[in-house]
Amino acid sequence: MTQLVQAALTVRKGMRASFGYLAALALGLLDLLGVWSDNRQLDATHAIVFGAWLAVFGQRAFSRIRDERRNPGESWFDLEQGLLLLTAAHAVLQLFGGLRSPLYPMLYVIIAFASSFSERRTGRVLVLFALAFEALLYFVTEAARDPKPFALHAIFLTLFGLINVIFTQAELTRVRLRSHREREQEKRRIQDDTRLFRLATTPTQAPERDDDKLFRGSVEEVHQALFWNLALLKRTLGLHSAVLLLRDENDEKLRIVELVTDSDDVRDGPFSPGEGAVGACYQRGLVMNLEHLRPGYTGLCYYRGPVQVRSFVAVPVRENGQNIGALCADRIDDRPFTPTEEQTLSGAVGHLLRALENERVFVQLERSKREHMVLYQASQALGAALTEQAVLDAALSAASQIVAHDFAAVTHYDVETAQHSVRRAVGEGAQQLANLSFRDNTSLTAMAVQNKHYLPYRGDFDANSQIVYTRNTNLDGMCSLLILPLCVREAPIGTLALAARRKDAFGRDVRPALQVLANQMAVALSNAASVARLEELATTDGLTGCYNKRYFNEELKQRLQAAQRFGRKLSLVITDIDHFKGVNDTYGHHTGDVVIKELGAILKRLKRETDVVARFGGEEFCILCEETDTKGAIQLAERVRQELADTVFETELGKLKVQCSLGVATFPADAADKQALFQAADKALYVAKNSGRNRVCAA
Ligand code: GH3
Ligand code: MG
Ligand code: MG
Repeated sequence: MTQLVQAALTVRKGMRASFGYLAALALGLLDLLGVWSDNRQLDATHAIVFGAWLAVFGQRAFSRIRDERRNPGESWFDLEQGLLLLTAAHAVLQLFGGLRSPLYPMLYVIIAFASSFSERRTGRVLVLFALAFEALLYFVTEAARDPKPFALHAIFLTLFGLINVIFTQAELTRVRLRSHREREQEKRRIQDDTRLFRLATTPTQAPERDDDKLFRGSVEEVHQALFWNLALLKRTLGLHSAVLLLRDENDEKLRIVELVTDSDDVRDGPFSPGEGAVGACYQRGLVMNLEHLRPGYTGLCYYRGPVQVRSFVAVPVRENGQNIGALCADRIDDRPFTPTEEQTLSGAVGHLLRALENERVFVQLERSKREHMVLYQASQALGAALTEQAVLDAALSAASQIVAHDFAAVTHYDVETAQHSVRRAVGEGAQQLANLSFRDNTSLTAMAVQNKHYLPYRGDFDANSQIVYTRNTNLDGMCSLLILPLCVREAPIGTLALAARRKDAFGRDVRPALQVLANQMAVALSNAASVARLEELATTDGLTGCYNKRYFNEELKQRLQAAQRFGRKLSLVITDIDHFKGVNDTYGHHTGDVVIKELGAILKRLKRETDVVARFGGEEFCILCEETDTKGAIQLAERVRQELADTVFETELGKLKVQCSLGVATFPADAADKQALFQAADKALYVAKNSGRNRVCAA
């Protein structure tokens, strides 16, 4: 009942919210009934209907605008208004001769308009509606037979409906491409200026995203400082132009970095360093003061053609003993620059250089602040990482924050076997390195480990002449490479390698931070290895409480040495449960575990105090009996066999009995060392298994 009420309410709400649809429907029905075509004289009824239509349309348009603010992109109003327009247009058409009326193209306009300004989905629905509606009008109301005129209309309606897709989307793509291009240009401009102002010590061709913002801010700052200085000079010295040119280290050309001028004829440059009076000033490092220039003089590179300038002066810009540019000033009036004015300009150069230097210091500070932050966070993450995987995660993530790269890998170096093995490789070409392991060779990795120094020295990489790991797994396509040795207390334990497609990626500005990271990483890796070793050293097996294999091996080694030294006997018993897979398969793993546990308990119960019992893996145990000969060991083994065979396990499937086979071997009678002793006992066990199981055999 409540559901019915709710449904009724929803319908009511829906009707009220969209009486535009109802109006469109009513109008459409009248169209289909051919009401207008019977009554082509415009009269009061028409006026009332169209008045009502206008009112509905206006009200819905108003609602649409209001709604647009609340839910931008809603398409229901668009569809509603499109339908209203279509049905009204058809009504008008009928008044003026039906579908053959010369007013028909009005429909194309409406479809093109509606589908261009609404969502693509709405546009499609409108086109479909227009086609269906016209089909009804044409074939039913007008009772036409020839489908050709309709087909023609249908084609055009569809084409106009597609205008949205064709033009709007094309235009959108064009705008997107253009804005992308503009962004790239802007980025390049910032990079050029960063280089020109020497804001970063190493010119990076692809600054990191953070650096990007930093450089953008600094470049703007520098431009502003330069602009105000030049504007001040222009005003105080009554100049026509004040121009600052600096050398671009990339192509050794002079570029205008800032200018203030009244001229419309300034050339953009760049200018070759020997060009005209400006070049002379820059190259010789001398003030060039030109007086009484004849009108039409062409020796000033930064003007496009002959100029009206009558006096000109250029002051060299020198930094760290090098000429890096020129500050130029010129005047239209024939008033030569005085020595005092020259001095003013030289003073201004000092000022401009200080502005540059300030900004460089700021950039450096800002970058090192960021670097410290990254390193601080990395050191925290590395300190918290207890496993090798966690260390690698933290280190590689820090590395990518310090410098963008296309490839990174970490290798481990084993001093004893002189083996390098790749522990993690990410990025381009990383797949080929998975599980790669190689002996000391002539690769950069091996050399970096040997020399405990980063490689290659200059950071450039050529895959044709340099080997990073092995000949078959090189980093083709990379132009920069940095391999940092990971050292703990002077001992190399591996490498961290980064590679990038761009050149000069790992210059002086990022290498120190990466070296600090490598040091911290080395310590963290060695800590993780210690933790792993500690965990392995934990001596007992979780299921049975017996010693584990590692501990047993240590014990065997030591006791064997003692037995050798003191000429004592030492016996080894190996047990293996018979048909244990069957137990697991029939009674389940849990029961299998209970059996293993019980055998462990039997062994611990029956062994002598000085004997060592260990679970060697699966359902195999080893017992080490000091000062015991084969006879004694067989006795122990026999008792174990008997005890297990007598044990009844209660399971869900009823009672279960299990048997085991045992092999015995004794030092020195059967073997002279650890390995041989194991082999002998194993062989005896094998014999026991092959001769019927549930028995003890001695070597
Ligand atoms: P055989 O008499 O020839 O030794 O027959 P077997 O089935 O015992 O053969 P094998 O010793 O190779 O089988 C060992 C089986 O022990 C395989 C594995 O399913 C089972 N196993 C190993 N470790 C465990 C464990 O911790 N718990 C349980 N429930 N089963 C284990
Ligand atoms: Mg086994
Ligand atoms: Mg077995």
